[in-house]
Amino acid sequence: MPEVLIKADDLRPDKLSRRWQAFLEFCAEKQIHANVGVMGGWTQAGGDDEHAKPEAASAMLEWLLAQPTLHIWNHGFTHHGDRSTGTSEFMGASVTDQVAAIRKTQDRIEQLCGVRMNAFGAPFNWTDHNTVVALQEFPEIEFTFYTPYVPGKVNYHHELFVTCEPFLGKVRPGAPRRFDLTEALQESRHFRNIGRSFVLQIHPNRWTEGALEDFASFIETLTEEGYRTGTIESLAEQDLFTTLSTPRRPLPHRAGARHRQKTRTTDRPSSSPKAAPEQAPRSQSRPRWTQRLSAPIRRAMPESIRRRLREKR
Ligand SMILES: [Zn+2]
Repeated sequence: MPEVLIKADDLRPDKLSRRWQAFLEFCAEKQIHANVGVMGGWTQAGGDDEHAKPEAASAMLEWLLAQPTLHIWNHGFTHHGDRSTGTSEFMGASVTDQVAAIRKTQDRIEQLCGVRMNAFGAPFNWTDHNTVVALQEFPEIEFTFYTPYVPGKVNYHHELFVTCEPFLGKVRPGAPRRFDLTEALQESRHFRNIGRSFVLQIHPNRWTEGALEDFASFIETLTEEGYRTGTIESLAEQDLFTTLSTPRRPLPHRAGARHRQKTRTTDRPSSSPKAAPEQAPRSQSRPRWTQRLSAPIRRAMPESIRRRLREKR
């Protein structure tokens, strides 16, 4: 059965706004699976411990996690982005700083509610190569959003995303947004035509009046078409993903690859044709991701990661 993964962004642990509450209670009551991206910082400035409300945050997260259809994932620490320079916690920051931002959120949420999150999605979906390296420090994070490829993890990349929330007025973070039902149906059509699973990215805290009703209509339409709402884990069981952790059957174009290999071995008779890679088991024929890293990237890695890579070899 195809699934829609509802990816709801931008919950601060100590601030349950009226809109968030309405959305979460609606999903809990209707047994709609909603996967909520939580930030670790109390404010966009960062820690701001003076204004923290850890008791309120614990109570809210415990309530959320007690609902069978509500789930959380790591959405970074501050959610600060600078549009003039195009930089954020996960765009243009060092590996060390990116590791620290992921870890602070993992640790704080765990302290608040006892759950170690298993998925990560960056604010604004802005990531760079350092994010891919930083995520290797977190074996417990098995799933990532938007980034096309993170070795060893299941990635729900941007091809799977449906977005349908036009801004009202000027486009800026925090501006009010509608849930446009027509756009939702249009943007999801190529998935629905072939009964394929997809990710619906939403921002319930920005919704204007009536958005929750339009969201509900969309989910109802999908349900009538044979969809169910999914979790981050259940979507990975759908036949969609090609990653190291979920090896798939060989692709048709491998026949072409074999042909090229043969041509090369005839050109250079000294190499053994017996060593054709398609003969080797799949796990051996694939290069390890660590072998593909260039020297500058290796040098930029924290010592702890480099040590781990040395141990792996
Ligand atoms: Zn966000």
